[in-house]
Amino acid sequence: MSDEQRRRSNCRSYLLTYIRRGKVAKGPCEICGTTENIEAHHPDYSKPLEFHSLCRGHHVMVTRGLISLGA
Ligand SMILES: [Zn+2]
Repeated sequence: MSDEQRRRSNCRSYLLTYIRRGKVAKGPCEICGTTENIEAHHPDYSKPLEFHSLCRGHHVMVTRGLISLGA
């Protein structure tokens, strides 16, 4: 496992723990507003609690740089 993969995986499990405890919640997709298949997008893996809620389709597009989330 590379350092990058480890960072990403740590970040996800950290966030998941907070979600399970009800400390944070994923919202509707910030781009299309759907509430189905929501994933957390992290601009910075060192900040697990700073994430964008995106549907699977828009998450892929943001990850590939096809669309941007604005500032
Ligand atoms: Zn969407």
